[in-house]
Amino acid sequence: RAKQRGRDRLEVYDPAMQATAHDRLTLGSDLRRALARGEMRVVYQPIVDLDTGTAVGAEALLRWRHPERGDVPPDVFVPVAEESGAIVEIGAWVLETALAEVAPHVPTDRAAPFTLAVNLSPRQLEDPTLVTRLQGALRRHGWPAEQLCLELTETALTDDLDLALGVLVRLRATGARIAVDDFGTGYSSLTHLQALPIDSIKIDRSFVQGLGDHRGSERSTIARCVLGIAGAMDLEAVAEGVETQAQLEALRRLGCRRGQGYLFSVPVPADVLEATVLGGPRPPRG
Ligand code: C2E
Ligand code: MG
Ligand code: MG
Ligand code: MG
Repeated sequence: RAKQRGRDRLEVYDPAMQATAHDRLTLGSDLRRALARGEMRVVYQPIVDLDTGTAVGAEALLRWRHPERGDVPPDVFVPVAEESGAIVEIGAWVLETALAEVAPHVPTDRAAPFTLAVNLSPRQLEDPTLVTRLQGALRRHGWPAEQLCLELTETALTDDLDLALGVLVRLRATGARIAVDDFGTGYSSLTHLQALPIDSIKIDRSFVQGLGDHRGSERSTIARCVLGIAGAMDLEAVAEGVETQAQLEALRRLGCRRGQGYLFSVPVPADVLEATVLGGPRPPRG
C-alpha cells in the first residue's frame, strides 16, 4: 500500500485525479440519499453445481441507479460507501432486502438446500449490532442461518485479524456460513486463513479467466493451487466469473464443484431468479 501511495503522489496535479477526487466527494453525498430515494436494488447471480448445472444458491449483488449518472458499478461506489461508513446501513439493507425477496419464494426444505450469499464489508465487522441484526433478519424472514453465506474478502479478514476472528466466531455461532471472497488476490498468509472459522473460498475471476485457454497456463496454475488449498483445508471452493465451456470443463477436471458466471447466468432480479432458476418449468427429462 505504501508503494501504491508513493506512485499516486506523482499524480497529485493530474486533472484526471482531481476529477476522481471530486467525483468521490459528490458520490459520497449522493450515496447518503440513495437508499431513501429508492435508487438501490439487489440482483442475484445463481451459484450452480458444476456437475449437474442445478442452482444451489445465489449471490446478492447491489446495484445503484444514480439519477444523473445512470448505473454506477459497485466497484466504484462500494469503496466510497466504505470510506464514509454509509456501507454499514447500506449493507444491512442489502441483507434485509435479499432475505425479503428470496425467502418467500425458495422452499427451505429443497432436496438440494439453496444458500443465499451476501457480501459483507469490513466496516460491517466493526458494527456492534451486526450479529443481532443478522439474527433478527433471519428470524423475521424465516430463513435458516445454515442457508446464509456471508462473503468477506481476504483483505477484510486479515487487515485486523483479531477483530475478524472475534466477529466471525459470533457470526458463525448463529449458524451462518462464511466465505472468503476474491481468494488469491490478497496477500494473506495461509497461517492467517487457517486461524479463521471459514467454510468456503471463492476463486477470483482473474484466475478462472485463464483456465481452458492455452495462453493462461500461469493463471490456471494458480487456480489449481487454490483448489488444492481448499481441498487440504477441507473448504468448499466456488469459482467466480465462469464464462466459457472450456473454463467449466477445466474446473470440473480440477475437481471444483461450484461456480457462478455469465456462462450460467448474469445477476438477475429476484422474480427472474425464481422463474428461470428455481420455480420455472423444468426441461423434460430424457
Ligand atoms: P464479488 O463479490 O466478487 O462479486 C462478483 C462480481 O463478478 C460481480 O460484480 C458479478 O456481477 C461479477 N461477475 C459474475 N460473473 C461474471 C462473469 O462471468 N464475468 C464477469 N466479467 N463478471 C462476472 P459486481 O456485481 O459488479 O460487484 C463487484 C463487487 O462489488 C463485488 O465483487 C463485491 O465485492 C462488491 N459488492 C457488490 N454488492 C455488494 C454488497 O451488497 N455489499 C458489499 N460490501 N459489496 C458488494
Ligand atoms: Mg462476493
Ligand atoms: Mg469475488
Ligand atoms: Mg470482486
